[in-house]
Amino acid sequence: MTSEPETYGRGLNRVESVAFIGVGRMGGPMAARLLGAGHSVSVFDPSAAAVAPLQKQGARVATSAADAAQGATIVMASLPSPATVRALASSLAGIRGIQIFVDLSTSGPAASQAVAALLEPAGIAAVDAPVSGGVKGAAAGTLTLMVSGPKDAVARVQPLLALLGRVIVVGEKPGLGQTLKLANNLMSAASLAIASEAMAMGVKAGLDPAVMLEVINASSGRNSATQDKIPKHVLNRKFDFGFANALSFKDVRLCLDEAEALGVPMVVGAAVRQMLSITQQQFGLDADCTEMVKVLEGWSGCRIGSGEEK
Ligand code: NAD
Repeated sequence: MTSEPETYGRGLNRVESVAFIGVGRMGGPMAARLLGAGHSVSVFDPSAAAVAPLQKQGARVATSAADAAQGATIVMASLPSPATVRALASSLAGIRGIQIFVDLSTSGPAASQAVAALLEPAGIAAVDAPVSGGVKGAAAGTLTLMVSGPKDAVARVQPLLALLGRVIVVGEKPGLGQTLKLANNLMSAASLAIASEAMAMGVKAGLDPAVMLEVINASSGRNSATQDKIPKHVLNRKFDFGFANALSFKDVRLCLDEAEALGVPMVVGAAVRQMLSITQQQFGLDADCTEMVKVLEGWSGCRIGSGEEK
């Protein structure tokens, strides 16, 4: 009888040493899924509240990103901005033993290309793998991952990414996953903006918002705002979808920058960017994306839904 090799256990093909940087609303549940599957995970996040549940689950809590990466072969990140991702990549370039860097954040193609150029000479393959599916999808392992990077590196991280959701390899060029993610998030933000306007008009005219949604969701106007965000997170006045308006604003800005660089005009996208900017000015950096509805309510003097205000 042969004994199991050390790297094989709990039904896994291979136990990986992963450093997970940024364990907020998305990164936290993703890191938890890797731990739950038996991988060795070290985490870094300046928020003590973010790392506490992962420590209980067996993660090593590091004092910096570089500390987390000591002994790791794969580094994953779920960070709030392209600048934080670029800074992380710079701090990783000199650390021996790291083989692959996977960026799960929405950080845009320009950052992915810069990160790949920075890490390649250090022998670290860069994979961009932005996700859709929200906080619920992160917890349930039902995200969609848009993956781009060198074939071998993608094959190596595939079993880890499969723990997080459905892996769709979109190409090998750095940043292609990011471009696809920005296209999706532009459409998602545009859906919320146009649904907010349409709902405000209907409610001001005297329609019941629940009836409006019932009809729209059986008709051609339906979208992710009418099917999910407004019925579940606005009508009850909780505004708790879990995706910050500031992050949506960041995504649409990145998208418009990319479109401009490619010579693609975005007339509607520019208006959506302004709606996100106005929401941020009125409701602050911590506002949920669904609070865009309140901008339209303020402008038009109506209230969509009932229930106690957040
Ligand atoms: P979040 O603000 O909840 O989490 C970000 C975490 O990063 C925080 O815990 C913060 O403390 C930490 N952080 C900030 N700077 C850091 C640094 N230098 N080093 C280590 N940690 C640092 O945001 P989130 O909603 O989890 O989003 C993370 C990324 O995922 C973003 O790029 C976002 O656009 C993307 N995303 C979010 C959603 C969503 O529904 N929330 C969905 C898809 C993609």
